[in-house]
This record gives sequence, C-alpha cells and structure tokens, in this order.
Amino acid sequence: MCRLPTGSCLSSLRQHQPGGTERSSYATERGHTPGRRVGGDTIGLVLSFPRVAPGKALSISATLYVTFTRCPDQALGRVHGVYPEETIASFRGGLAHRVFARHLERGPIGSDEFEKVCREEIGTGLNPSLGALGLRPSQLAPVVKEVGDLYQRFKAVIREGFRDADVFIELEPAAGVTLRGSIDAVFDDAGGVCLVDWKTGGLHETGSQLGFYAMLWALDRGELPTRVEALSIASGERFEAEPSLASVTETAASVAAMVTMLRRAADEGRDELERIGGPWCSFCPLLDSCTEGAAAVRITTA
Ligand code: SF4
Repeated sequence: MCRLPTGSCLSSLRQHQPGGTERSSYATERGHTPGRRVGGDTIGLVLSFPRVAPGKALSISATLYVTFTRCPDQALGRVHGVYPEETIASFRGGLAHRVFARHLERGPIGSDEFEKVCREEIGTGLNPSLGALGLRPSQLAPVVKEVGDLYQRFKAVIREGFRDADVFIELEPAAGVTLRGSIDAVFDDAGGVCLVDWKTGGLHETGSQLGFYAMLWALDRGELPTRVEALSIASGERFEAEPSLASVTETAASVAAMVTMLRRAADEGRDELERIGGPWCSFCPLLDSCTEGAAAVRITTA
C-alpha cells in the first residue's frame, strides 16, 4: 500500500474530450511485453498514442496540458515562450519539493542542518529562480522558515513503500512530439505502484495533471499505476484516483488533440485560441491584453 495520510477521496480523474481516432502502436514499438497484466488492466500492446497532425516540434509537459485544459490560449502563449513570472510562492514550492525528495531518498533532516540543506538544494537547482526573484540572502530566511514548517507536516507521511522520488519521464510518441513530466514520488501499492504529487498550496483541479502522469507512466512502462494521488502538505487535502486503460487512453487522445490544435494554430499563423476565463486568469501573463480574463478576475475578486 502507498502509506499516505488518509483524507477526502474525490471522484475519478477529470478527463477531456477525445481527439483523433487513428493510432500508432507506440507501446509495441518500444518493445513492452505484449498483454502484460498490471493493476487489473491488460496493457502493453493496447495503449497507443493517437496520430497527430504533422508540424512544429512541441514539448508537452503536464503543466502545458493542464494549462490547455483550462484555457487553450494561455497554453498557446506558453508554446510561444510567454510564461508566468516567478513568484515567491513558486520558489517556496520548488524548494519544499527538493527538501521532500531529499528526505525520502536520504532520510530525515535534522533541525540543526535544515538551513544548510536548503542552501545546498537552492544551489543545486534553484539559483535561476532565485536570480529571477532578485531575493537577497537575508530575504531567504522567512522562505526557509516556511519550508521548514511544511517539512514538519511532510514528515507525518509514512515512508513505508517508498520506491523513488523525482522520477523524470520523457518520450517521443510521435514525430516532433515530446511528452515529459516529473513525478514527485513513487510508492509500492497493492499490485503495482502509486504515483504521488505533493502540493504546497491547495489542491485545486489536479485530475488532469494526475491523468497526464498516469498516461506517461503507462506509455513509458507499459503498465498502469494502480493509483495516483495528490496530497496538499499545506492543507492536508487529498485527491486520489485509480487509472484505468480507458482513462489513460482518453487522456492520450486529449493530449493528441491538443497537439493537433496547437500545430494547426502555428501553421495558420494564428496567435489566439479559445480563451476561457477562470480563477487561473489572475496568474496569466496574457491578462493585461485579455478582456475575458479581466472579466473573470473582476468576478473572482468581487
Ligand atoms: S487571462 Fe484568462 S482567459 Fe485570458 S488568456 Fe489568460 S487564462 Fe485565458
């Protein structure tokens, strides 16, 4: 079992409408064992990535996919290199994730060494974010303190069954289409593995992100994770789902449809796609020039 604190268990993964129906036999090309039975579904030969329109090389992360499911135009902005600015919250989250992974891989971090460990982790992977924020070393202290508070909560997570942290998967299921994602932690689970995503804020809508990870795992490993979970270390909220062959196939179709739409937009020289306003508009780098986003922000901040 994946030993995580129990909490509210929400419904199954949020999924989106399938796209094209022609399929390439990606799993077979990678040589996965045909018909391997994992987590209740026979996969291997069966899961395949749908055919997509040819065009611009695209790198599809879970973040891009989630962004697209919320607002296609913001996703197109990312493809054109327009990203949200770095924030202290995102930096704090990044540092907390590195601390969590270090705990899982090396064991508990003593309070007397916590600050030193944070500085090591910043030096290893977060210096660009630190530079973008322009934080002076003296301004780091409150951030380290907040990460320390999160770490105390994180330690309540039982380590039993831990298998791996920061599992990066990258694959090219169609020409010029790279899928990539970094799974925070993998735990042994009854009959398979549980993929876990730590959150340092609220859970919001995590179904699409977890669905993307489940699809990525299935395409790369030729097996289904038995469960996917998101756990907010800050609030204790928890979301879990049991991926099925149908759900990962649907996610693959949705990702493929997104690829085709983004490529067609690039081919046609379009710099706009459908705009869907929502709470995410507050953090959108296109907000200043978006009437839909402005209307959404007026409503959500009223
Ligand atoms: S501000 Fe909102 S509606 Fe406008 S592009 Fe950004 S996310 Fe979409």
